[in-house]
Amino acid sequence: MAAITLVHGDITEQRVDAVVNAANSSLLGGGGVDGAIHRKGGPDILAECRQLRASRYGKGLPTGQAVATTAGKLPARWVIHTVGPVWSSEEDRSALLASCYRESLRVAAELGARTVAFPAISTGVYGWPMDDGARIAVRTVQEAGGDFDELRFVLFDPPAYEAFDAALRDS
Ligand code: ADP
Repeated sequence: MAAITLVHGDITEQRVDAVVNAANSSLLGGGGVDGAIHRKGGPDILAECRQLRASRYGKGLPTGQAVATTAGKLPARWVIHTVGPVWSSEEDRSALLASCYRESLRVAAELGARTVAFPAISTGVYGWPMDDGARIAVRTVQEAGGDFDELRFVLFDPPAYEAFDAALRDS
């Protein structure tokens, strides 16, 4: 069973095999985690994303799916891009958010990654309430299979850290 850990920090500084990007379906960059990853990781990541758009993902990466590229200059081997759902108060999109974590881990396992760092997917620009996003994240990685040493959540601010800490304690 992998250790599930929490750190307060920046996803771009994690020394792990794979870091997960809260991407958008264009795969061509955005704000938040996505902007930080491309800024620090350099142009090689975007070059691979462009190739993916020119081949397998002509219409973009669908919400809930995941795909890997190089991590460029980041201290990781791979970036796994996943597209979280935009929060909706009218429609329950939890299954799509859970799918982001599950599919990222499936891709990580295929690559042979043993340590994976996740941001709190969908809880930024996409508006997902932090407490609920934390519960879904923790439950999904606990239930996912795979042979990992460490699954790390990287939380950008104290409220995010507290939400994940509470979700882990309640699980
Ligand atoms: P989304 O579009 O999926 O909501 P965002 O990148 O806007 O993704 O935000 C996801 C979460 O990541 C938010 O809680 C945000 O505060 C946090 N975040 C933003 N930048 C970083 C970073 N460099 N490292 C870790 N977490 C970050």
